[in-house]
Parts: sequence; structure tokens; C-alpha cells
Amino acid sequence: MAKLSVRDLDVRGRRVLVRVDFNVPVEEVDGRIRITDDTRIQESLPSIRLLQEKGAKVILLAHFGRPKGQPNPKYSLRPVAEHLRTLLGGSVEFSPEVIGEKAEAASRDVPDGGVLLIENVRFYKEEEKNDENFARALARLGDVYVNDAFGAAHRAHASTAGVAKFMPQAAMGLLMERELKYLQEELANPKRPFLVILGGSKVSDKIGVIHSLMEKADSFLIGGAMAYTFYRALGIPTGASRVEEDKVDLARELLDRAKTKGIKFLLPVDNIEAAEFRAGAPTRNTPRVSASQGISEGWMGVDIGRETIAQYKAEIANAKTILWNGPVGVFEIPDFAQGTRAVAEAVAAADATTIIGGGDSVTAVKQFGLADRMTFISTGGGASLELLEGKELPGVAALTDK
Ligand code: AMP
Repeated sequence: MAKLSVRDLDVRGRRVLVRVDFNVPVEEVDGRIRITDDTRIQESLPSIRLLQEKGAKVILLAHFGRPKGQPNPKYSLRPVAEHLRTLLGGSVEFSPEVIGEKAEAASRDVPDGGVLLIENVRFYKEEEKNDENFARALARLGDVYVNDAFGAAHRAHASTAGVAKFMPQAAMGLLMERELKYLQEELANPKRPFLVILGGSKVSDKIGVIHSLMEKADSFLIGGAMAYTFYRALGIPTGASRVEEDKVDLARELLDRAKTKGIKFLLPVDNIEAAEFRAGAPTRNTPRVSASQGISEGWMGVDIGRETIAQYKAEIANAKTILWNGPVGVFEIPDFAQGTRAVAEAVAAADATTIIGGGDSVTAVKQFGLADRMTFISTGGGASLELLEGKELPGVAALTDK
């Protein structure tokens, strides 16, 4: 169902309450909070700037960390307001009150085109409980509502979902719109072949995604530790690799299902195995796997092998839509990163719509300097996975239908 967009709103002179994702990583240096990665703040700038240009009074709502429902200076959004001021190059006010008379007065004092950031909504336990009275109090800070916090859209909280009910109009922001365009619309009618690359540490995190995408994708490439749970299901030796014992039956079911549906479901045909899980540990490329030969006793699989890389590259080059979620090896350790790098380079070079579906594969793509060669990189973690699982996100469901 198409939702109202911030682009559709008439906002001149009106207070637009915008839920953004400012939950950025920080470090404390000499008692001062420093933002170590401001990607999330940057990603919300297009919506903020659009609203400023249209003459709106922009009131920003966000959460930061886990203050457990109580005011806590450690989790104040004040440093974010300062950072935002440098990014927008203009006046950005900060309200230390989240709700109530003072906060409402501050929202009314914002000039047209001005910005006010409200203190961390999670200073109230009512936020995560999606409390109606709290949502109503938040709604008094604005005249219309915009949700641009894709990364928090899978949570039914007061500022992400509840508040929408008390607003005459609730629209998606530009970032939210882009996320839905690529993770939902584009994948509903993909150009074929549609290839899904899945890696990461656990099958259990991706079961829902595999189930849902088996209805749409033509082929799957599996890597990362999750491959070894599938190995176990096939009786291939896994050595000391990470295997989810309680998911082996499920892995077998997924393999059967792929077979029945005629979907290509490729597991690594060889691997890099390491004697220890650390940089500099001895490694070797295993021979081609079979029922009797897989990962060696006492060794662990840490990356896909050379033959697998060649095979996966060919599949990637042939695809017209590619969705990638999860590294195919322990890419944080450079010795074990070759498979993930090769996959990232092949995806970047593919003549296809390429979508990086959130989490650690995003980190990997950025680390390899390939981010601007992908069609779309999702900013969500849990929200991206839930969307790919075909679930409705509460933060989207709450918005006004177009
Ligand atoms: P996820 O958060 O599920 O996408 O998993 C990402 C994590 O999986 C990364 O930190 C990788 O280091 C880890 N990973 C990938 N391959 C392996 C492997 N073969 N063994 C252990 N961990 C792995």
C-alpha cells in the first residue's frame, strides 16, 4: 500500500514532527562525547533540508542508546544537536524537555525553516511501551508527522508508530521512501535472474528471509558460518567450525524446499580453514568438499575458498538483481576477508540492480571502498531483515495511505 510522502505535504509555516534515526556510535574523549560515525545523521539530512526549503518548522524526535526509561545525561542528544548545527550551518535549537509545556512552547518558537531537536524520547519508559498518553503528548509538538527513522521502523514505539494516530497526516521521509522502494518494491518484481547472497554467523537470524525470498529469488549463494550448519545437514564434516546444532533439521528442510521448487541453492564447494580464530593463524584452502571431506578435524571454516569464489563470481555476473546480506567470511580479520572482498567486487561490477541489505555486509562494502558502486545500501539492521521477511513494519503501517 503506497503511503503519503513528505514530498506530498504542504508544510509552509507548519510544525513538522520528524522521527529520525540519530542513534549514532559515540566515544568519550576527555569527558566530551564525540560522534565516531555520523552516517545516520547524514542520511536524515535530505528530508530535513527539503522541509527547511519548504518553509516548515522542523521538530526532530529521536532516541539514543538505552537509558532504560529515565533521564540520564550520558544519553543526552545535546551533542547530536551541536553536530547537526555544524552540518546544517544554521540555527538548530535543542529542547531538554521531551514533552510538556516548555517543549511545546519551544516547538512553537521555531522560525519557518528552523530546526529544533527534542531530547531523547527514551528518557520516558512510556516510549518503548507505545503508551497512548505519551504518544498524544508527543503529537502536541507538531502539526503533521513524518517518519524517516527506517532503522527503528520495526519497533512499535510511541515516537515511531503510536504518535501517528494523533496527527491529521503521517508521511514517510525521503530515506524511509528509498528503503521501501528498494527493499520492497524493487524486490517484489525483480529483473531476473534474481540472486540472493546470504552470509553471516547464524542461519537462525536469516530463516525468515530465506523462507520469504524462496518465493521470489532464482538462486541463492550461501557463505559465512551459516554454510556449515547446512554442511552438517548434508553430512559434510565441519571440523571446529561454528555450527548451530539446533538448526540442522531446519537447514535440511530449507535444502529440500529449494530442491522441490527448483531453486539453485549453492553452498561453498571449498573453504579457507584456520587453525585458530585470530589474525596470523595458519590457514589453508580445503580440497573440494564431499560427504567424507569438508573442514578438517580441529580446524574451522573462516571464509569461502578459491573455487567457490570463481563459481560465485560467475553467478553474480549473470544476475540482473542482486540482494546481499551478511559477509561470506570473517571479514574483520584481513586474512579471512578475501571471499567477502571478491563477492563485494563482483557485485559492484555486475550489470544489475545491486542492493546491500543491511548489517555487516554494509560495513564490508564500505571498508572495501565500494559503497558508491552499489545501487542501494540499506541503513537498517533488524528493520531491513523484517522487511525482507515480508513483515509489515509498525512504523510504516502507522502512516497515512496515499
Ligand atoms: P551477521 O551479523 O549474522 O550478518 O554476521 C556477521 C558476522 O558473521 C561477522 O562478524 C563475521 O565475522 C561472522 N562470520 C562470517 N563468517 C564466519 C565464519 N565462517 N565463522 C564465524 N563467524 C563468521
